[in-house]
Amino acid sequence: MSVTVRVPAKVNVQLAVGAARPDGFHDLANVFLAVGLYDEVTVTEADELRVTCSGPYADQVPLDRTNLAARAALALAERHGRTPAVHVHIAKDIPVAGGMAGGSADGAGALLACDALWGTHASREELLDICAELGSDVPFSLVGGAALGTGRGEKLTALEVGGTFHWVFATAGRGLSTPAVFREFDRLTDGVRVPEPVASQDLLDALAKGDATALAATVSNDLQPAALSLFPELAQTLAEGRAAGALTGLVSGSGPTTAFLAPDPESAERIAQALPASGTCRSARVAHSPAPGATVL
Ligand code: ATP
Repeated sequence: MSVTVRVPAKVNVQLAVGAARPDGFHDLANVFLAVGLYDEVTVTEADELRVTCSGPYADQVPLDRTNLAARAALALAERHGRTPAVHVHIAKDIPVAGGMAGGSADGAGALLACDALWGTHASREELLDICAELGSDVPFSLVGGAALGTGRGEKLTALEVGGTFHWVFATAGRGLSTPAVFREFDRLTDGVRVPEPVASQDLLDALAKGDATALAATVSNDLQPAALSLFPELAQTLAEGRAAGALTGLVSGSGPTTAFLAPDPESAERIAQALPASGTCRSARVAHSPAPGATVL
């Protein structure tokens, strides 16, 4: 028997980062929006835990027990006193190490899939608990839609979205490590008073109205200067996307994927064609939001 779960990528329309805490983590005010770019995670009964991956980014995905999908299977099995004897296959369409929470998506997907395969019937609360143990972005991959994440980003409050937003995501020729971007943030803000991270009410209103122009005027990413410092060429990609008609462009999460908000679906298609032609990114994809969270197919 097999179970397949489809899980979306995310973009952070606001990522407010506080000063480093004593434990090294940062408090965040993180407005997540799930976007319609998906990985599919299929779990099948097997003799032992094993992970395989297919798709355009498969060669960048670890297949050992560091894979978040494997860790999710192990965590659920341990809590329910089972052996994690399962083959996890990831059909990967979310860029790897791109700031779009692809690994987190696979963790949430494998968790939901194993729960269905094994009939463990974990409560939503238990699933969210395991997600939070796996990583700060994993709970959002489970719930999807739009949400404000506080704490390390893992404490979620669902947000209302009043319309469809049209995005273009440009992938870069190499990845950026999330911890390295946070270290660069710490370096750039050393000696500077970093304000408490709070969600922007104007941004929440723009989301609730489904108003792309208002959203474009209010998006922000405190990690963007750090990502640009480590990857200066991204500034050119951002400029090209805006020149091609985007309402705004920003680094997605810790980057290096860049996200462009388009006024309508047709403009999104035009921007997605113009960006790779400009030579400032590797590829560009259109995706719409909000998208549902992890879903059993
Ligand atoms: P985030 O937006 O949450 O910071 P990201 O999109 O930048 O994450 P991921 O694609 O999640 O980055 O990958 C980050 C690293 O995690 C990869 O370089 C890889 O070594 C590791 N990893 C573990 N599990 C997975 C997985 N299932 N898919 C992709 N990468 C994984």
